[in-house]
Amino acid sequence: MQNTIDLFRRLFSELLEDEKKNTVAQHIPSEKLYETLDLSLKETPLSEEEFEKVLKELVFTTTRTATTGFFNQLFGGRNEKAILGDLLAVILNNSMYTYKAAGPQIGVEKVILKETCRIIGWDENSDGTFAPGGSMTNFMSMLMARDVVNEKIKNEGGQKNLRVYTSKESHYSTPKNAAFSGIGRDNVQYVPSNDIGEMDMHHLKRMIEEDVVKGFIPTLVNLTAGTTVLGAFDPIPEASNICKEHNIWLHVDGAYCGSVFLSAKHKHLLKGIELVDSFSYNAHKMLGTPLSCSVIVVKDKKHLHDSFSNDASYLYQTDHDEFNLGKTSLQCGRRNDALKFWTLWKSVGTKGLEKIVDHQFYLADVARDYIRSNSDYRLYSFDESISVCFNYKNIPARDICTLLFEHSEMLVGYGSYNDQEFIRFVTINAQNDKGDILNFFKVIEQFVEDHKDLFTSHSIEA
Ligand SMILES: *Cc1c(COP(=O)(O)O)cnc(C)c1O
Repeated sequence: MQNTIDLFRRLFSELLEDEKKNTVAQHIPSEKLYETLDLSLKETPLSEEEFEKVLKELVFTTTRTATTGFFNQLFGGRNEKAILGDLLAVILNNSMYTYKAAGPQIGVEKVILKETCRIIGWDENSDGTFAPGGSMTNFMSMLMARDVVNEKIKNEGGQKNLRVYTSKESHYSTPKNAAFSGIGRDNVQYVPSNDIGEMDMHHLKRMIEEDVVKGFIPTLVNLTAGTTVLGAFDPIPEASNICKEHNIWLHVDGAYCGSVFLSAKHKHLLKGIELVDSFSYNAHKMLGTPLSCSVIVVKDKKHLHDSFSNDASYLYQTDHDEFNLGKTSLQCGRRNDALKFWTLWKSVGTKGLEKIVDHQFYLADVARDYIRSNSDYRLYSFDESISVCFNYKNIPARDICTLLFEHSEMLVGYGSYNDQEFIRFVTINAQNDKGDILNFFKVIEQFVEDHKDLFTSHSIEA
């Protein structure tokens, strides 16, 4: 084992050293992957030296998500306290279904859930769980909503007339989960958004009322806290009134920006969160833990039990259900995603988490200020969002993003709203500072300057 630990330390230190010089790994086109790297599996073992060489090559050519060259998705950075927790979770290798199998780690998970519920303003009756990603916590909310409307579906199967409402700007997991849950993709109603990307409540109300007249059963309203492209927040109090009137489950998908509940300055974006039935957030997005770390909390824990408990005498043999978390989880065997969040939270305190969140908004302000003060840029997104959407010199966003990637310069993505395509720059890596943000723009400007011909020809092609 000691050799393996030494090998890990070598690989990790060498990677850290190399990342200082090369923020982006050398791009390997997918069609050249297998000829560039030897990934093949053989009958015979490798020598220790060969094994290390192959591993190093793989590690060095893998997409770098912790550097100042990665702005492609809604995660990034490398928080060492959280990493420590995740490494320990791998070494300890517990399964979170029972107290017998996970011991004190059950308490680690439970205190995170309790503290989340307490901060958002819920009482002892609330609870939650961890699932492997925001798509899955959204799935859990849909299943609970479905089972509230008709508890027989769990045993007898589908019912055709349930309806789910989500905004046009919401994450694609809602239609996917509608397929999984038997509600059906066709029963997802997409509510239009207003000009700053928030769900339009007049439309929501109207769509629900029309569905009721037609004999549909409104089952779930899925709001988003931080839409995937613009980072907009749907209004909770208005939606809550509509849902109360029609007895509809209200979920807030805070996978991207739900962690603002930890910030005194920005929690107003989640105003009314205490009114909802369930709320999910990804600590692996705003809080910077390793993937994946997704939390769902429900105001009334009864629903978690109703939808997710299943008797299994071979599993639940000791201890009270309060400590057998398999009774309220989506999976059976479940990795310990709580520990990395706990090591982070324990070490920096709630104040430290707040700082992480606030810093991302500060970095977004830096980016917006830069864009606004430079006439080569055009800004499309709005204040109080950590997604900064813009175009540079009217160059098609997808051209810049693709060429930056192919030249191993920078990883950043593009998105669109109201038929306008733009670069989406996400300031989610709280380890960056003002200089890193300004450098991002410098890289783009220099790249465009150095590849002028490429851009004109490329743009015309597109
Ligand atoms: C990222 C995201 C999801 C999906 O979360 P995963 O952990 O990637 O499954 C869902 N909803 C929103 C708004 C997101 O940003």
